[in-house]
Amino acid sequence: MLQKNTVNPLLDTEALPRFSAIRPEHVEPAVHETIENNSASLNEILEKAASSSPDFENTILPLEELADRLYRVWSPVAHLHAVANTPRLRKTYNRCLPAIARYETELGQNDALYRVYQQVAGEIDPSRTDGAVNLLKFAIRDFERAGVNLADAEKTRFKAIVERLTQIQAQFEQNVLDSMAEWSCHVTDADRLAGLPSTVLERAAADAAEKSIEGWLFRLDQPTYTAIVNYADDVDLRAELHRAWVTRASDTAPANPAYDNTAIMEEILSLRHEATRLLGFNGYAEYSIAAKMATSVDEVRGFLQQLAERSYPAALKDKELLERFAGRSLDPWDIAYYSEKLRMERYSVSDEELRPYFPLDRVLQGLFSVIHGLYGLTVAPADSVDVWHSDVSYYRLVEEDGTEIGGVFIDLFARPEKRSGAWMDECVSRKRFNGELQKPVAHLVCNFSPPTRSRPSLLTHDEVVTLFHEFGHTLHHLLSRVDYPSVSGINGVPWDAVELPSQFFENFAWQPEVLTRISGHFETNEPLPEALIDKLQASRVFHSGLQMMRQLEFALFDIRLHAEYSPEAGARIPELLAEIRAQVSVFSSSEYNRFAHAFSHIFGGGYAAGYYSYKWAEVLAADAFSAFEENGLFDKDMAQRFRRCILEIGGTRDIGEAFIAFRGRPPDIDALVRQAGLLVEDRPPAVAQ
Ligand SMILES: [Zn+2]
Repeated sequence: MLQKNTVNPLLDTEALPRFSAIRPEHVEPAVHETIENNSASLNEILEKAASSSPDFENTILPLEELADRLYRVWSPVAHLHAVANTPRLRKTYNRCLPAIARYETELGQNDALYRVYQQVAGEIDPSRTDGAVNLLKFAIRDFERAGVNLADAEKTRFKAIVERLTQIQAQFEQNVLDSMAEWSCHVTDADRLAGLPSTVLERAAADAAEKSIEGWLFRLDQPTYTAIVNYADDVDLRAELHRAWVTRASDTAPANPAYDNTAIMEEILSLRHEATRLLGFNGYAEYSIAAKMATSVDEVRGFLQQLAERSYPAALKDKELLERFAGRSLDPWDIAYYSEKLRMERYSVSDEELRPYFPLDRVLQGLFSVIHGLYGLTVAPADSVDVWHSDVSYYRLVEEDGTEIGGVFIDLFARPEKRSGAWMDECVSRKRFNGELQKPVAHLVCNFSPPTRSRPSLLTHDEVVTLFHEFGHTLHHLLSRVDYPSVSGINGVPWDAVELPSQFFENFAWQPEVLTRISGHFETNEPLPEALIDKLQASRVFHSGLQMMRQLEFALFDIRLHAEYSPEAGARIPELLAEIRAQVSVFSSSEYNRFAHAFSHIFGGGYAAGYYSYKWAEVLAADAFSAFEENGLFDKDMAQRFRRCILEIGGTRDIGEAFIAFRGRPPDIDALVRQAGLLVEDRPPAVAQ
């Protein structure tokens, strides 16, 4: 039990979180107390606003303060839940979620609060450049997108739609999982397994043994599917897996028809359409784009179309080269298999070959020197900061003149109690009210292999790129000059532009000049040899034409599906897919292919009418990086300009205008086309060499 006079470390939000002092029993009291206090403060603010004249300083800043207060309490909990999970923490975390969700929903639908924001927005000086104007604009937009403006009957309908959508979007994903769980493939003839990696075989043998059957039982999951279509020499086995994969949760699935998503997809699209029409949009695509950097649905379609036209010749070349290599025309279940063989034979550079050159400390020091070379900033370790695990370090980011900008907790090794993947998260947001500055702090988390007794932690090149990517996000968060948390750092940045700083920074991890700086064999200290650098570069663009067209097929399908939906014609999914394939596919697909039925990215939520964002951000990042290719990788003026125009502005400025301020012109797809090796003249000749 918590002693009455013990200070709850979660409520001590002045300094950095005291991670090692936080116990599960602190969580609920801290969260409930903060929500209660916030609700009371909110009422006071609203009462005051009703009786006097509310303005940005006397009303909006206190509201920002409330949001930051709750964030400072909840953020360490959510972070520990992700990196140092225990059953007790998970329990208390889950018990808090409904209270937080309730608090936020009530805020988002609070009419009086909405009117206060509107009133302040109506009176604010529109020429203010500190972010206040956008802060108000985004807050009002979010209220309106949550339906606060609707008449009562419409509001009721809107709520019912949102509820139903939540339910059937989850059902869509569940059907995909259930249809996968239902399927299996039993093999007893060992000859059929040639080419398969041992990890997959061991699992399949164990699954068969568990069912007391002979041989191997393959289940339908991502690793098994990928391994079989990439490596199985047996063409029938590949074809069988291919069919199971592309028919998941569909009418052509070999397994249970109960998991067919056809009707759910229609209903999802119909409800999204109805809900966004209630809000005054033309439909879901327009609703999605209204909150993004892209200015219209037409612009997105045009962008994807243009990228498709530019990439198509390269994809055709990729196909030609692949079929020449295979010696025949290829069926859908052959493509990954021959592609992998070709890659291994011509362009491969294995992880094991590269790892010894990328000991973690060397990579980190190299990465810090890149940051220093660009921005003159020093990343310096700080010893006395409280952390949650002995693997974690805290670094300060320091300006050339000694000013500390902020800090970052770096937690890089995989542990059983840690969520997989890599991410940057905000620990503390930059905030300056009444001259008092709260410096930003980030979390940078990866899942690399820890050191062993005989060798340091050695990274693959993929992992090096991941580290650069997350550092790109970290710099975006830390270098912000914005004083208001809700538009500082990555906050308020439209979703299709938020990956610009991260993908931009990834590019550095591919440059020979940087590769020699961040590598050093862990035994000999020798930098990455030139021959390996060349191979690495070649592997980066291998089959980029085919990959680009595949991504464009998904993105075009997504945007057109949401843009062209009408209640009269319905979703027209098969027709639409056929049209898009005729335009972008270089290989024909099987008539039973129903990939959309398992496209959880868009039907499950998240990326709906937003799948194009991947490519959109890649174009921005490649184009921004090309300014450095033109002027020198470490051109200080260019780096300053990137910092000032992009990294420092948070959500205070239109990102399209900010990009023009940096680049002197709007974004152009040329740089990506070149970087991805999509210029046909750059393609390797189709004749084997
Ligand atoms: Zn990212």
